[in-house]
Amino acid sequence: MLRNDLRNIAIIAHVDHGKTTLVDAMLKQSGIFRANEHVEERVMDSNALERERGITILAKNTAVMHKDTKINILDTPGHADFGGEVERVLTMVDGVLLLVDAYEGPMPQTKYVLRKALEQHLKPIVVINKIDRPDQRVEEVIDEVLDLFIELGADDDQLEFPVVLTSARNGIAKLTMEEESDNLEALFKVILENIPAPDVEVDAPLQMLVNTLDYDDYVGRIVVGRVIRGTIHNGETITLMDEEGERKAKIGRLYTYEGLKRAETQEVGAGDIVALIGLADANIGDTIADAESPEKLKGISIDEPTLSMV
Ligand code: GDP
Repeated sequence: MLRNDLRNIAIIAHVDHGKTTLVDAMLKQSGIFRANEHVEERVMDSNALERERGITILAKNTAVMHKDTKINILDTPGHADFGGEVERVLTMVDGVLLLVDAYEGPMPQTKYVLRKALEQHLKPIVVINKIDRPDQRVEEVIDEVLDLFIELGADDDQLEFPVVLTSARNGIAKLTMEEESDNLEALFKVILENIPAPDVEVDAPLQMLVNTLDYDDYVGRIVVGRVIRGTIHNGETITLMDEEGERKAKIGRLYTYEGLKRAETQEVGAGDIVALIGLADANIGDTIADAESPEKLKGISIDEPTLSMV
């Protein structure tokens, strides 16, 4: 089943190129916030806000609604030294936004993550941000990005990347500099048209890979992953499978992403990204499978199964 109501993307950006500002602007223009809700400034950085809610569960991920489609936006670490974390995030998504400053152009720190995304055959969308800068050099920067793609061995399909020009600060997106725009509609449209919707078996026995782990003082270990097949339910008994074998375990609460908030939910279907608590000894690369007919997923390459955000 094609989940056209869903897209999963990761953002790749050099520090200060405007990732936080862009996600903030997307949230403000998405259907998720009602008029009376206040969007905090610099949302992705707002650990204080998450702390206030008692749990850091959503510190790295955000979801925005565009019309009837939910777009999960995952953050990628910009460093090469997070053993395996970049790969683990990229295995949860179907495409990436490469965000580049319209003056600075591509920077070395974005290269590592972009290389991984291209290797995983993810569909890239190039977002040239800060086009309001008086010193913007949009055309040259696009050429520099193309050179980088060639250098990194992008395939023909990846080289045909769509380009969206944005001023995250002003909340606008367009496809050419000449165009008039007063919103981010062009960006949402390019995401929905270019990032494949998850094509999944919703009615099959559950399969989910433990992609990343988080930890919270109140609730303990938090497992984050993408439901590959079937549906996961609040409180259900599952089979937890690792290299050594398998055992039954009970899921605690489930959360999906909704704006910046963790939204507790009863079930999460294939294609979507879920955070859950209750599996105190689950590890990265484990499979969460149906209780009755468990089938193990092929693991993800893991250099170091460390906690991602302790
Ligand atoms: P991040 O490190 O990628 O999350 O970058 P931020 O979103 O924190 O932005 C870094 C700086 O760039 C901040 O001072 C932003 O106000 C500024 N900035 C972000 N987007 C734009 C933009 O579209 N135009 C201009 N001129 N500045 C921007």
